[in-house]
Amino acid sequence: MSIAPPSTFSLDDRFARELPEMALPWHAEVAPEPRLLVLNEPLAAELGLDPAALRGDDGVRFLLGNAVPPGARPVAQAYAGHQFGGYNPRLGDGRALLLGELVDTGGRLRDLHLKGSGRTPFSRGGDGFAAVGPMLREYVISEAMHALGIPTTRALAVVATGRPVYRETALPGAVLARVASSHLRVGSFQYARSTGDVELLRRLADVAIERHGIGSGDDGAAEAENRYLALYESVVAVQASLVAQWMLVGFIHGVMNTDNVTISGETIDYGPCAFMEAVDPATVYSSIDAGGRYAYGNQPLIAEWNLARLAESLLPLLAEEQEPAVELAVTALKRFRPQYSAAWAAGMRAKLGLPEGLDDAATGALAEDLLELLQAGHVDHTSFFRALGAAARGDVDPARNLFLDLAGFDAWVQRWRALSPDGEAMDRVNPVYIPRNHLVEEALDAATGGDLGPLGRLLEVVTRPFEERPGLERYAAPAPADFGAAYRTFCGT
Ligand code: AMP
Ligand code: MG
Repeated sequence: MSIAPPSTFSLDDRFARELPEMALPWHAEVAPEPRLLVLNEPLAAELGLDPAALRGDDGVRFLLGNAVPPGARPVAQAYAGHQFGGYNPRLGDGRALLLGELVDTGGRLRDLHLKGSGRTPFSRGGDGFAAVGPMLREYVISEAMHALGIPTTRALAVVATGRPVYRETALPGAVLARVASSHLRVGSFQYARSTGDVELLRRLADVAIERHGIGSGDDGAAEAENRYLALYESVVAVQASLVAQWMLVGFIHGVMNTDNVTISGETIDYGPCAFMEAVDPATVYSSIDAGGRYAYGNQPLIAEWNLARLAESLLPLLAEEQEPAVELAVTALKRFRPQYSAAWAAGMRAKLGLPEGLDDAATGALAEDLLELLQAGHVDHTSFFRALGAAARGDVDPARNLFLDLAGFDAWVQRWRALSPDGEAMDRVNPVYIPRNHLVEEALDAATGGDLGPLGRLLEVVTRPFEERPGLERYAAPAPADFGAAYRTFCGT
């Protein structure tokens, strides 16, 4: 077999051409001893990249940014952002690079981006590198999210660099190659706005409108009277839907800074994220989120806060004068709550196996009473909803056994079963397998030590989350009691 030359992997430099003020041409650090740890073959095929070629020497160098195809121009992207509520006018890709764009087999333009590729002018105090553990963590969790049907950036590969990175201890270094429908963030708009250059802001907004097809569908935004308002409305809508999906599956992003909020509505930047086990809105796993700003139950409010920051950035495009611009933005942002609530309620109705068209107030009360019971009983979110599918088919015990307050549960189940829930439909939306924290840690520890077996098995499980398979019981079970409460996740920076 001949090894494909790097030019097999052609990339565009569209972002660099369209927004040069926000794109610093840069290069990835050369990896001393590259070793491909994991390659996402289905995604590679979707991108029109030959998996066998990617596994070859030149392919691996391509995945590290060390072999740049002709025509490509890797850049560090500039963005700003509110981090834990405090504004930072200059964040940007401090350990990442946009390699370029490619058109996938479905005709969609996708970004190919690296994380852990070395220092850039945006690195501030950081070393620009990433460790194997956190990069594999992003791989596993983002692929699990994709399999759950939740919009997300995706992982194409993780390559170990052979270079140690120094955190509390020396760790093996790695580069993640990831794919996104774009890397435009709320922070990108904050950056453009802060330059004071309204034409740059307008160009950025035009790029976003074109890139995300806003207006090419039914919403008619590109032709709309106010295309920038339509852009804003679109981001409000996709974020409302995204965060509702996080809540329904128990996902905690962990670091919902404005630079980690996409214009596309894809989940991005998997750092200290984790799935909640026992239901509790106050759940926080991130070691740096001492105040609980990004706790599970706060996520919808934080999303709304982040969208307000986007509105502020867009004001000069919404209207000539400040006052009508603010009015338009406020009206658009007001739609977040009803959109979020509608998405959440529709998702919850599906999780409960109930048909559309039931009385909203009745199903709303049913869902709220359930959440109270789940929280009071510290019931495992994922196990419960899956077990409830069996209850719909008449086998109530698996769900009932998760509660101590049996009377409370029995009364609730009676109300719910009176609505004739559909257990089969529930099994299609309530996962058996999520990347549980203890399993993720186990897989990453093994991989860091050189054993990729547990990671491969975990990936097989979580990428088919709805399909219950014999022999995989331990992947469906909550963490052992001694693991749970003190569990902390780290940014891995
Ligand atoms: P994150 O928390 O991953 O969203 O990153 C927030 C900001 O810190 C971004 O500007 C990153 O590029 C930057 N950053 C994170 N880790 C590093 C690192 N190891 N070296 C340089 N910059 C980093
Ligand atoms: Mg980030």
